Amino acid sequence: MKISQLFKDTDKTVFSFEVFPPKKDSPIESVYSKLEEICSLKPDFISVTYGAGGTVGHSRTAEIASKIKNDFGVESVAHLTCVNSTKSDIDANLDDFVQCGIENILALRGDYVSGVEPKKEFVYASDLCSYIKKKGDFDIAGACYPEVHIEAKDEVEDVLNLKNKVEAGAEHLISQLFFDNSVFYRFLERTKIAGINVPIEAGIMPVTNKKQIERMVSMCGASLPAKFSKIMQKYEDKPEALRDAGIAYAVEQIVDLIANGVDGIHLYTMNNPYVARKITAAIANLL
Ligand code: FAD
Repeated sequence: MKISQLFKDTDKTVFSFEVFPPKKDSPIESVYSKLEEICSLKPDFISVTYGAGGTVGHSRTAEIASKIKNDFGVESVAHLTCVNSTKSDIDANLDDFVQCGIENILALRGDYVSGVEPKKEFVYASDLCSYIKKKGDFDIAGACYPEVHIEAKDEVEDVLNLKNKVEAGAEHLISQLFFDNSVFYRFLERTKIAGINVPIEAGIMPVTNKKQIERMVSMCGASLPAKFSKIMQKYEDKPEALRDAGIAYAVEQIVDLIANGVDGIHLYTMNNPYVARKITAAIANLL
């Protein structure tokens, strides 16, 4: 099913997950039992990340997205980055997606990898959106940044670039993680002013260990509200308490987002079935 259709067909808050493929040196089957458990929670769809370096043809992303859809019965979205790919690399990936029955793509620019010269055939995600749109019958999603993309000059430039990406074919948007809902609400106001009218999902990352939060925040620049930092400080050396507090914080964010009528919640599960299960159970009656 196309994800844009899912948003049209439902008046409930869409609830989706993100998972990632195993590292190249681990067998692909190593994540299957976790994925099966995560799929048994029946989210509306699951998106599968794509390695920053770019892959030609059969990627683990395609394989995992196919497994989720065809064996575990949950609609999937394959992420695809373009900055380190040529058009023929992208064509090979698109052919592969068709073979695997994948209809939905999260079209991304991707990050520059140090020591890897970008291929320059695609400069922005919007270039990839228009390319995919011409190439086949795919449903395209795009990424967005409530706290403004790290390279953008300011929030006005960023939202205008986002509008350009929607005009190039992105039919729904998934946000970067954030820990302060008021940041997301201000972002939604900017998108409205800019005339962006596609569904926007809020990206929620339940923080369950200290390393994870430090890594994510340094990579994506998410700001940490004082309330959140207090929790991290109090429980940083008590792994189970930190996990439970992280889950409780994410649930509180989600309840507030649903009450404020957001289009969808995209949960960064980090391939953790326990966390996904706890959060799904806590909000099951609220969607
Ligand atoms: P773009 O939309 O191209 O934006 C990048 C920057 O360029 C922004 O600052 C934007 O304002 C600017 N810009 C856009 N268009 C123009 C223009 N025409 N002129 C001037 N400036 C412009 N990375 C991975 O490697 N694999 C993944 O699987 C992955 N999944 C992700 C999922 C989500 C939900 C999110 C939010 C991010 C994900 N990323 C992933 C990270 C992403 O690749 C990086 O954040 C990357 O830096 C930007 O990608 P983008 O698609 O948002 O880029």
